Amino acid sequence: MKTKILVSACLMGFKVRYNGSHKDEVQHTLSRWQEEGRLVVHCPELAAGLPVPRLPAEIVGGEGNDVMADRAKIVESDGRDVTAHYQLAAWLALDAARSAGCEAALLTDGSPTCGSRTIYNGLFQGAKKPGDGVAAALLRQHGIRVFSGEQIDELILWVNEKEKMNDPV
Ligand code: SF4
Repeated sequence: MKTKILVSACLMGFKVRYNGSHKDEVQHTLSRWQEEGRLVVHCPELAAGLPVPRLPAEIVGGEGNDVMADRAKIVESDGRDVTAHYQLAAWLALDAARSAGCEAALLTDGSPTCGSRTIYNGLFQGAKKPGDGVAAALLRQHGIRVFSGEQIDELILWVNEKEKMNDPV
């Protein structure tokens, strides 16, 4: 069976920051996956009803796992607590992934929702720290492999290896 992948909507068009020397090959693979119906394009924040445009939001006092466990919060740049909206966004991302049978996710890094390697540090100074956003954290908690937009190579390798093991001929 072909592996399905949840993809951050804002990564579509594949305008991802990708610095590899074989960019064409990567883009070809992603286009093929799209044609094969493997990609489930989703924006958790839009699904949760957050408006466009919206104020920047950052995780304060922890990272995505802490927010999902109510040990940290997410606030907008004007100080408004939007934790509940972002927790809902995470659950909707998990629901979208599970409903479509996704085993992996390719997410935009840096976001308080989709970040998977880095998030902003909660001080609204443009500085990042290591950590997951809420959706990345929840997806991982439920066994879905999460890759950032900068890890497309690793995702392709992971999918190829997995499918080779399932169909060794
Ligand atoms: S990074 Fe933000 S805008 Fe992009 S898909 Fe995730 S929630 Fe939506």
